[in-house]
Amino acid sequence: MSKNPWDVHPVQALRAGPGFDLSTFDPSATPGWSDDRDDGEERMAEQGARLADLQEMLFAEGRSGGARSVLLVLQGMDTTGKGGIVRHVVGMVDPQGVDHASFGKPTPEELAHHYLWRIRNALPRPGRLGVFDRSHYEDVLVVRVENLVPPDVWGQRYDEINAFEAELVGSGTAIVKVALMVSLDEQRSRLGERLERPDKYWKYNPADLDARAKWPDYREAYQALLDRTSTEIAPWFVVPANRKWYARLAVTELLVDAFERLGLRWPAAEFDVEVEKDRLENS
Ligand code: AMP
Ligand code: MG
Repeated sequence: MSKNPWDVHPVQALRAGPGFDLSTFDPSATPGWSDDRDDGEERMAEQGARLADLQEMLFAEGRSGGARSVLLVLQGMDTTGKGGIVRHVVGMVDPQGVDHASFGKPTPEELAHHYLWRIRNALPRPGRLGVFDRSHYEDVLVVRVENLVPPDVWGQRYDEINAFEAELVGSGTAIVKVALMVSLDEQRSRLGERLERPDKYWKYNPADLDARAKWPDYREAYQALLDRTSTEIAPWFVVPANRKWYARLAVTELLVDAFERLGLRWPAAEFDVEVEKDRLENS
């Protein structure tokens, strides 16, 4: 399989454009992909190798004085597979080139600062693929649903986040925003597995059930986020995640696309190659 097997590339199939409606979204679907899972896994391996090459080129550029980076923002409720994306997708590239950050409940120090403070501190260095497992978007998701600040405070954050991301893009960071969606049934079965298996207890948090109970509120908060922060320069991609193989393949493709848009090249030698060959020969 080397010719493009997609009917519609995920960049088109998954982009949250105007009028995107979460209430009719199917988390079991495989938009743009009509082949089976085995074909999907084969494609994933091929594109993983491509992603690793592209990431190495970006790293090389960073080593040669380039300022550019790529930032993958992962959002999704518990059990949507954010950790699996980090392990199986980001895990395909050289870990030296990855800057990973996860964002939980803010610490007292973080709370004493503006909500973007901890985000700015975790931005990818030049040449790196940054990965945010949760992000500044929690400040318009859990914060909105749980009334952690008044509506006029979180209400201003959408525009502020758009301005922040425009600043990042302007300084050379390509942003790939992914919202992973599972169905309520699928979440039940994944949480159930965490309760059945001692090797999964550590992932279970009784508070996950409180968030689950507020599913409609979260859906409303996600809808608002998609309506207000899916911009030209940093669009959201809404990824159906009931089928893990599909979600991982789709995110791989979104990343490959973002890297390809950078038009990366291997940096030219900063020395005379022929002279160095002669020196080596005579050494
Ligand atoms: P996990 O990703 O499963 O480790 O859970 C992290 C938890 O931190 C989730 O329940 C998030 O909703 C919560 N969290 C992340 N960011 C914030 C925030 N800015 N304010 C409050 N809770 C947050
Ligand atoms: Mg969790």
